[in-house]
Amino acid sequence: MLDLAYTDPAPKRISGATGDWELVIGLEVHAQVASKAKLFSGASTRFGAEPNSNVAFVDAAMPGMLPVINEFCIEQAVRTGLGLKAAINLRSAFDRKNYFYPDLPQGYQISQLYHPLVGEGEVLVDMEPGVARRVRIERIHVEQDAGKSIHDMDPNMSFVDLNRTGVALMEIVSRPDIRGPEEAAAYVVKLRQIMRYLGTCDGNMQNGNLRADVNVSVCRPGDYERYQATGDHSVLGTRCEIKNMNSMRFIQQAIEYEARRQIAILEDDGSVDQETRLFDPDRGETRTMRSKEEAHDYRYFPCPDLLPLEIEQDWVDAIRDNLPELPDAKKARFVLEFGLSEYDASVLTADVESAAFFEQVAEGRDGKMAANWVINELFGRLKKDDLDITASPVSPAQIGGIVDLIGKGDISGKIAKGLFEIVYTEGGEPAQIVEARGMRQVTDTGAIEAAVDAVIAANPAQVEKAQANPKLAGWFVGQVMKATGGKANPKAVNEIVSARLGL
Ligand code: ADP
Ligand code: MG
Repeated sequence: MLDLAYTDPAPKRISGATGDWELVIGLEVHAQVASKAKLFSGASTRFGAEPNSNVAFVDAAMPGMLPVINEFCIEQAVRTGLGLKAAINLRSAFDRKNYFYPDLPQGYQISQLYHPLVGEGEVLVDMEPGVARRVRIERIHVEQDAGKSIHDMDPNMSFVDLNRTGVALMEIVSRPDIRGPEEAAAYVVKLRQIMRYLGTCDGNMQNGNLRADVNVSVCRPGDYERYQATGDHSVLGTRCEIKNMNSMRFIQQAIEYEARRQIAILEDDGSVDQETRLFDPDRGETRTMRSKEEAHDYRYFPCPDLLPLEIEQDWVDAIRDNLPELPDAKKARFVLEFGLSEYDASVLTADVESAAFFEQVAEGRDGKMAANWVINELFGRLKKDDLDITASPVSPAQIGGIVDLIGKGDISGKIAKGLFEIVYTEGGEPAQIVEARGMRQVTDTGAIEAAVDAVIAANPAQVEKAQANPKLAGWFVGQVMKATGGKANPKAVNEIVSARLGL
């Protein structure tokens, strides 16, 4: 596989009254498995359905109902693990995590504490061209989601919607390797990108299909390196966990606030309590949800309703063999195969659809020019209309056609932009439009010479000025371009203007 070289980003530093501080961050990301059915029942996972309409007896915890593992969900979690270069455990097991909540009818969540399906992996978190953080993944376990309590529909009652109950989640647990708010957001962006490439999670944060618990602590410069060298967590500061974040912006704001809050406590000779906190986006603050003393005792034990999950190496290998090309590999290939800058390659590989579109334009053409047209013209124009690449009114073949016309010298870059707008709004085949509308560039030197001579004859004063100061020759080029309706070959015009002015 192709690989680009990266250096580590500098960790974020905050200077306090007593010196510098650094941040240490670890994330637990809950990603909803893209599956039509739930983890242990055949009920639908469709979002936005009538409340309590997608609930099987086992989801509602009816007496005597037994869970049955949905193989497809397990396959998606294995795919995700392989996409994160993680070890797949052929033997894993489900445990009961016991707690009471009205939207959890079983009174426990089936999860994997002791033997998760996926072990250690890693993600490369891109910060800027040539700079990326390698974040280690500790584990991914599979578990069921809870339902939803609705507190704001009635002043005296709460409602419960069990549609979400039992939907499969992958909990992706990182090591505390993330060193700043931007890195944390970029980590979630990268996980989402990889899962979208794999098709294992749609990454829709608004619908709650991707959410993160963010663990934050602060330490002194050098402490993190000591932790890395020894693996000893105790050299790091006490962490707080900020629950259920579902926006990249809030993740950054919450970390920034939380780090400063902890620094203020420590600089005041206090100590940070390990606690669970909530972020209030209106105030931009985190506040205590529960302290360590109130922490739940989940009384985990192996789920007696399910046998340990045993999967075959052959099955895992078959999944591995069918993985798509993933973002890092695609980006490296775009850089090496098409000669793109890493920045352009990142933009084009942000999602699979854009990458595929670009590759069709670039096929048999100059890669940089294709990238330029897709990024600057097409993406810019789509953004103006708030359209996705999948809804582009222009096809790769049409953009390719425009690029070909420029390459052949039939049209100038400027005319090409006008042509693009016509193709975008009216459709049509670029070469035909150029013919039909007489947009072909004038390369006939005789015609250009005549136009140059006409401009020179009409402007004797400008001629004198330009001869004294050759920089002013550009004015003549502009006039000729105007006179020819922008169709004259600019290079030829330049040469003829210089020659005629004797520059
Ligand atoms: P627990 O055993 O309490 O579940 P873990 O060690 O598994 O705690 O960590 C849970 C999450 O907290 C992980 O994502 C991990 O990276 C993160 N984490 C652990 N220690 C720290 C720390 N000192 N600062 C920030 N995050 C941390
Ligand atoms: Mg843990």
